[in-house]
Amino acid sequence: MSMSEPRLRTLLRQAEKAKSAGKRAAAAQLYREIVDEAPEVAEAWLGLGEVTHDEAERQHAFEQALALEPGNAVAQAAVAGEPLPQAVVTADEEMERETAVAAAKPLAQLYVEASSPAQVEEDHLLYCYRHPERETSLRCYNCNRPICINCANKTPVGYICPECRHNLEEKFFTASTVDYVLAIVVSFILSLLAGFVVVRFGGGFLWVLIVLFVAGAVGGFVAKITNRVIGGRRGRYIPHLVAAMVILGVVIPALPLLVGILLGGVGALFGLLVPGIYAFVASSSAFYWMR
Ligand SMILES: [Zn+2]
Ligand SMILES: [Zn+2]
Repeated sequence: MSMSEPRLRTLLRQAEKAKSAGKRAAAAQLYREIVDEAPEVAEAWLGLGEVTHDEAERQHAFEQALALEPGNAVAQAAVAGEPLPQAVVTADEEMERETAVAAAKPLAQLYVEASSPAQVEEDHLLYCYRHPERETSLRCYNCNRPICINCANKTPVGYICPECRHNLEEKFFTASTVDYVLAIVVSFILSLLAGFVVVRFGGGFLWVLIVLFVAGAVGGFVAKITNRVIGGRRGRYIPHLVAAMVILGVVIPALPLLVGILLGGVGALFGLLVPGIYAFVASSSAFYWMR
């Protein structure tokens, strides 16, 4: 059986505090509670071994820790019967007196102390580094600074702050100015060819269907060729520019139709149906292929 992550952390922290304050019995109680419920936590076994006064329990705890973490030097030394570092095993008389008081407290009371709201609040009272007046419990996974919910961007591996996100994006976007120019030129030429075919050839219902089915593939084709020409490098605005070129590539050959509508030929509106569908589907497709 395992305990919840926040409760485990609270108990471990509390036990750590008790241990470093020399309250060995209190620390031992907390470590026992952890290993009862979560025997897979090597840290708790190690802690128990360090603080317990019971020799058999001490031996057992270090053996458990060693079984969980065979490379742990402290556990290795303890199981081999070597003395532990001084700081771990000694506690002065006054501290031992506190230990006696803590040991007399019922376990339930210790747990209440460990997880009282005031304690939790103290540990979670962080302020966004960009908004010092906003409390938060989130941290950036990259720089570990506290960030408020408005600044945090959710990623598959955790929250990231705007600064780190920008820095990561800068590393990600490696396209040069030449790449931008190449992307515009190549996608424009290809899109213009495709646009002429869409506007000039065919017509009627069947043509609407054909365009509807191939427009996505045409947009993807323009994007793939463009991507290859610029060596696969990415630019923040390249997908937008390529999508714009796909639209421009069909708008230019469709200009006579637009002029026709302006001159009053409403019948020409129908002629814009196919270029319109093509522009929408192909540009969306090109945009997503480039991303
Ligand atoms: Zn950050
Ligand atoms: Zn903020």
